[in-house]
Amino acid sequence: MTTIAFIGLGNMGNPMAANLVKAGHAVHGFDLMPENLAVAREHGVVVMANALAAVKDADVVITMLPAGKHVLSVYGDIAPKARNGALFIDSSTIDVESARKAHTIAAKHGLLSIDAPVSGGTGGATAGTLTFMAGGADDAFSAAEPILKPMAGRIVHCGGDGAGQAAKICNNMILGISMIGVAEAFVLAEKLGLSHQALFDVASTSSGQCWSLTTYCPVPGPVPTSPANRDYKPGFAAALMLKDLKLSQEAALGAGAVTPLGAEAAQLYALFNAQGHGGADFSGIINFLRGNSA
Ligand code: NAD
Repeated sequence: MTTIAFIGLGNMGNPMAANLVKAGHAVHGFDLMPENLAVAREHGVVVMANALAAVKDADVVITMLPAGKHVLSVYGDIAPKARNGALFIDSSTIDVESARKAHTIAAKHGLLSIDAPVSGGTGGATAGTLTFMAGGADDAFSAAEPILKPMAGRIVHCGGDGAGQAAKICNNMILGISMIGVAEAFVLAEKLGLSHQALFDVASTSSGQCWSLTTYCPVPGPVPTSPANRDYKPGFAAALMLKDLKLSQEAALGAGAVTPLGAEAAQLYALFNAQGHGGADFSGIINFLRGNSA
């Protein structure tokens, strides 16, 4: 049994912490929102009064927070008070630069650290089937692997500090672009009098095949489990897709990479969000594209 501090018990953090409890670990949790702490308590998490109290006796500290500024602020508070040699795992989706700064703070205090963002959403967090994309030194990754296992379907060591975040935003840039591509094809098919099923039957077994089509089809019918069949209830909310696309564009600017389709996807999701659809599934972008068609 390992004592794990879990900071950030929101939509993702709470089910992840629950799986660590189920695996037999002592989980000391903290969140700013009392209602999230109440849910955590029901899952067997020992709720602590603040982040420092959660970290005090922990061998491992996991953070699952909204953005880089939250992670750096929490790391700044807790790293000096953590056990010497403790392992810090940040699973939040944040910018690569902040992720590298978080590693530096941890190293300064003699801590092991990895950035380990996830894909798989709240469903994967509940089922314990998340994909973890990890960045950090080999010894930190080896220490983290058995801790991540009860929450994971797959764990990939992507490279050094920040490589996990880099993999996450590159993957989600592909996802945002491909979803818009698939949605555009369905809108064009509608205008051309081609049925959704016919396009799906051809493209899903041809060179247009991709995850956005075959698993997450943005029109109702062809893939019964896709959010299009439940009025675009997420799933993966458009606001989170916009967040990840913005992170990809910040990273592209900093690294001097040319990503014109990523930039366009970020713009389209910004407009979709501005129209009040941030809470809808990101595949709902098809309605926005249809609305803009003559
Ligand atoms: P969320 O808003 O539900 O949870 C974040 C939690 O952090 C909140 O409960 C908030 O109160 C807490 N928090 C903020 N500052 C804090 C602090 N200083 N101390 C303690 N708690 C603090 O968000 P979420 O959906 O759980 O997402 C968490 C992270 O995971 C984000 O970075 C997100 O981009 C990423 N992510 C989310 C999904 C998803 O489908 N929801 C999928 C993959 C990755």
